[in-house]
Parts: sequence; C-alpha cells; structure tokens
Amino acid sequence: MFKSILIANRGEIACRIIRTASRMGLRTIAVYSRADAKGQHVQEADEAHEIGPAPAAQSYLRADRILEVAQRTGAECIHPGYGFLSENAEFAESCATAGIVFVGPPPSAIRAMGLKDGAKALMRAAGVPVVPGYDGECQDEAVLAEEAQRIGFPVLIKAVAGGGGKGMRRVDGAEDFADALAGARREAQAFFSNDRVLIEKYISSPRHIEMQVFGDSHGNAVHMFERDCSLQRRHQKVIEEAPAPGMTAEVRAAMGAAAVTAATAVGYAGAGTIEFIADGSQGLRTDGFWFMEMNTRLQVEHPVTEAIIGRDLVELQLRVAAGEVLPFTQDDLAINGHAIEARLYAEDPANGFLPSPGPVAWLDFPKCEGIRVDAGVVNGGEVTSYYDPMIAKIIAHGADREEALHRLANALNDTIVAGPRCNVAFLRRLIALPHFVHHKFDTGTIERHLADLASFSETSSLPAIALGAAALVAQRAGNLIQCDGNPWDANDGFQLSPKRSLTEKFASNGKLHEVELFTTGGIFGGVLSGVRQIARAHSLHWRNESGELRAFIHGDIAYVLQNSLQTEVSRYDPSQGAGAQGGEGDGVIRSPMHGKLIALFAADGESVARGQRLAIVEAMKMEHVLVAPRDGVVSRISVAAGAQVAQGAEIMTIGENGGDVKNG
Ligand code: ADP
Ligand code: ADP
Ligand code: MG
Repeated sequence: MFKSILIANRGEIACRIIRTASRMGLRTIAVYSRADAKGQHVQEADEAHEIGPAPAAQSYLRADRILEVAQRTGAECIHPGYGFLSENAEFAESCATAGIVFVGPPPSAIRAMGLKDGAKALMRAAGVPVVPGYDGECQDEAVLAEEAQRIGFPVLIKAVAGGGGKGMRRVDGAEDFADALAGARREAQAFFSNDRVLIEKYISSPRHIEMQVFGDSHGNAVHMFERDCSLQRRHQKVIEEAPAPGMTAEVRAAMGAAAVTAATAVGYAGAGTIEFIADGSQGLRTDGFWFMEMNTRLQVEHPVTEAIIGRDLVELQLRVAAGEVLPFTQDDLAINGHAIEARLYAEDPANGFLPSPGPVAWLDFPKCEGIRVDAGVVNGGEVTSYYDPMIAKIIAHGADREEALHRLANALNDTIVAGPRCNVAFLRRLIALPHFVHHKFDTGTIERHLADLASFSETSSLPAIALGAAALVAQRAGNLIQCDGNPWDANDGFQLSPKRSLTEKFASNGKLHEVELFTTGGIFGGVLSGVRQIARAHSLHWRNESGELRAFIHGDIAYVLQNSLQTEVSRYDPSQGAGAQGGEGDGVIRSPMHGKLIALFAADGESVARGQRLAIVEAMKMEHVLVAPRDGVVSRISVAAGAQVAQGAEIMTIGENGGDVKNG
C-alpha cells in the first residue's frame, strides 16, 4: 500500500478521501487555492500546499502545479475526487509520466467514455442498450433537425462533451428546435469548448438509475447494485438512494450485467458509474433501460452504495490503484437495508435557487443513529463563490426505505445552517412529498411540484424579525457588559426605568421595519406588528421563549432560523438603503450574487425593451440571466464580460428613454 497521497480536490470530497487515507496510515497532502487557505480540507490534511488564485482554471485545474507539489512532497499517488481533473485523461497520463499513480481508471478508459457520442457508439457495439437517437458526425442544423423529426419529439439535445447537466435542452416540437439547438451549442461552447451535440429520444417518465461498478487491473469487474437518482432539478441530482424503489431481482441482474459489460469493454479498473435512463411509465423492465453515459470516477453519491454494501469505496480505489486484486467477487456482495442521501446546497430555493455564498455564522449537524454527514465546510468557515455550492451530503441508512427516510427527515430537521441561505427547508418538503414517499416519481417530479416545494410565505418572518432585532440589541448589551461593565451607561437610547422601550429601524429582506424594543430585568425583546418575541441566550446564540426560533449573530447581522428557513435582520443603515438589492425603480442593474459576468448582451447607448436579456452572471454551477426592468437606454456599463462581480455590484443602468439617468 502507498505511504502518501495527494488529494487534487477540495471541499467535502477532499475531506472524505483524507479520512479514509488517514485511517489506512497514509500521509495526506492537500492542495488549495488562495480562496481555500482556511478550507476544511487544508486543516484535515497532514500538510497543505497553495497552488494558485481562486479560479479553478488557475488552481485546481492546474495539472502542472499539482504534479509539481506531488513530486516535491514525494506523493506516491494522486486522488482527483470528482469534478476538476477527475475525468481528464491527459492528467492521468502526466501522472504516469511523473511516476505517480493516478487513483482512477486507465487513461484509455477515461478517453473512451469521455465524449457521449463516442461512448454510445462503443456501447452499442458491445451490445449494451443505448438511448435511441442520432450521434453521428454531421452537425448541420438541417440534418440535426431532420434527425430529431425521425427520432420523434420530444427529443433531448445534449452536448457530447457535457457534464453536470450543462448543454442540454429538451425539445417538444419542431418549431422549438432551432432555438434549443442554438442554446445548447452556446452553453456547450462556453462550458466545454466543444459545441458538438447529439440527439436522443426523450424517454417518458424517465428515471435515472445508475450502477456502481468496480474493476481491478487483473481483469475482474463487479457491480455494486444500483442507485436511483431521479430526484433532479435542471438535470442535477438532489436526492439519491440505493436500492432503487421498485427494482426487481430480474431487472437488477440485467442492468448489472449490462454495466459490467460496459466496464469490461473499456478495460475499466477502479470505481466507475454506468448511468442508465429507465422508462418508468410501467414499472422497471429488462427491456426498458438504456445507457446514457459512464462517469469514470468516484461519484458524489457513492456513500449510499457504501452504506448498503458495508464497504469503503475509497479504500477499494486505493487498493486497486496499488495493484491489489478486488477482495471479493460478485457473489460476495449483498444489499443491507436502504440508504438515502440529500445534497445540502448553499442556495436560495425561494429565489430561483440562486447560489448563496458567504461566511457561515453557524453550522451544526445531528449525530444520530444511521446518519452520516460528509461536509466540506465547518462552523466559522465560508462558502466561497468560486466552486460548487454544496455544503454537505447527509446520508441516512436504515433497515428499509421507511426507516432511512424517517432518519433523514429527523436529521434534516436538526440541521442548522445560518449565514448562507440553504435548501434544507426545500429538502424537508421534498422527501415528504407523497410521490416520493410512495415512490411514484421520475426526473420531472421536482419541476412539477416546484411551486409547492420552493415557495415560502413572507408573513411568517414577522416573529423572526422581532427576535432578530431583540437579539442584536441583547448582543450589543452583552458586549458592553464585557467591555464597559455597565450597559446602562451606553448611549443606546434606553432610559433608566424598570421597563424601558424605544423604537428602532431594522432592515430585512430589502424592507424596512420599525421594531419596538424593550428591556426588563436584563432580558431584551422586540415587538413588530403586534408580534412579541423575547431573546434568551442559549449556548452562543439566542432563542425565543418557545425555542422554535433561533438567532445567530455574525458581524452586524442576525440570522434567524425558523423551521429551517432563514430571515436576515440588520440595523437599518440610511446610507445603505434597506438592503443590497436597492430600489427597483432606479434602473440600476446589480449583480444578484457574487460571481462572474460571463456574457454582456447590451452596449452603452443601446435601447432595450423591458424583459430583454442584458447579461448573464454565473456563480458555481448556476447561470443567472439579468433582464431589463423597463424600456430604456443602457448607460454606465461598469463591468466587462469575464470580470468577477460582487453581490449588489452595479453592472449597468437602464435610463429613461432619452438616455439621461436620474440620480441612481
Ligand atoms: P455526479 O453524478 O457525481 O453528481 P455530476 O455530473 O453532477 O456528477 O458532477 C459531479 C461534480 O463534478 C459536480 O458536483 C461538480 O463539482 C463537478 N462538475 C461536473 N461537471 C461540471 C461542469 N460542467 N461544470 C462545473 N462543475 C462540474
Ligand atoms: P450529464 O453528463 O450532464 O450528467 P447525462 O447524459 O447523464 O448528462 O444526463 C443528465 C440527466 O438528464 C439525466 O440524469 C436524466 O435526468 C436526463 N436525461 C438524460 N438523457 C435523457 C433521455 N434520453 N431522456 C430523458 N431524460 C434524460
Ligand atoms: Mg450524468
């Protein structure tokens, strides 16, 4: 076995690899970008080395720098995790050239499965069922449109180099084809520098069911059963489980055999996943699943497989990479119980799932039976805007699906994320959705129920604002006790009388609120629209009297959690307006988040119509289109395409027709 390992990744997956490698006695070497200097993986590794600035292209994708660190530190192997360099055949080759073992499949297997069209052709030849469609050479629009007609709508246009759900468009009729094709190509070019596409039949009631496979360098290959990843939003997985609900022994055997055939056809070694799309309209059938693609790496959702088979896939990856024979055969593997994983993202479901990076005011996960949490952020850490917004994965294992689901629900209820907005409340609703509970779901289920899953009422924030205001005042008083010894000397407006009160202005969600604050016997409270809340100190945060609301203070902001929903409250600062968004009527176009301006569609002096696209801001894996709030003329463009923008940064102004802008 190796004595040292370099982990060419970050976040939860780097931490997860470090855990197993340390347990096996390997010296762990982390690399990090400047944005991650205080990252969790940096702290958990035995040593850590900076490899460049924050953007991945200048750090985590810099194969040369990573190899240089590996050689300098004497790393015997490199684990690429997922994303970044994990499916990069040249990187795997460079490792070999440098005499360092790449923990992954042979470069030839990565290459064979790298492009979706080539992979499909190969699989067809190997006798694996593939989704019917067109994956030929010709990329003429007319030919593609004709092929779509022949396949029959609905069809799916896919970037051959695609990944992470990017470069994909569903088309329901011929009239929409040209637009969809242009969109898919544009995205494919931007993300993968390759605008080639293929066309597939869109499978009805689609279920995403994938098979974990494992091979060694001695010609052995097994499958480790399936995972159902049908709960997706925009083709990205949200919930994954194993085994798949409704799976029969017969279909599993057929899918498993197809997966092993696929892996063997490319001489696979190590961990890989064969993704199938299954027609779920009449239950799973042996002739109702088709190969979509192979992911030649460890998958985000591998823990559900680990849970049901009771083995550590990273340990197996290391053993196989070190040349060992797989320590079991297919017949040694069995399914134990059921496991479900939920991906916890720093994003705001109530606001179009916009990524929500920033400092973490509080983060706490429950420690209970059957629950595993793989996190890449810790209390006091930060979610940066440069990478994937995933905070953690919460994995529940139980004797059966019902128990796993029950445990996951409890774990989500007890998960605390304050600071970044996150999707916990959305996840809680999602796993309680009757369609999911009674396993009548497909990849469109989230989209169809989005209105119920992602809308949260504003009125429920009144108590939260009252508590947040009280907590801010209580915190200030507490700080004064520590600093000055006597809070009542402070010039904070409270008068010396048994019960004192005053009204102060607070901002929350871009709106101004006048909160009546009172104090009595050292306890602080707030009243807003008749709703009264008292802030009680409770291990480094504040609670209301029932304990249902909790306020976490970071800097000048109180993050109040109620039922997994967060309300941010801060003192009103007249120089800042009521919040970062600013007024709607001023015509100033601001970035809704920290990110990168990837496209600018308007020029100075140009007339635009209300609703017209102006720019695209991208953060992590999410694109956000900025549209004109009114008819007008563009002026004051202050950011160039390609530039990094901060949340609230002014991008341009849409003046009244005529060009002149009111004081903005
Ligand atoms: P999985 O099936 O393991 O979820 P994904 O295709 O969703 O696979 O990608 C896994 C991870 O790889 C993502 O979370 C992300 O970090 C990274 N990744 C993959 N493709 C892309 C992409 N096109 N853009 C950005 N990140 C990507
Ligand atoms: P990526 O490389 O981005 O992961 P995939 O080919 O794996 O791309 O497809 C991503 C998702 O899109 C799948 O998980 C599935 O939900 C959906 N999808 C892909 N192909 C089809 C299809 N032919 N019919 C219906 N849905 C599909
Ligand atoms: Mg996929």
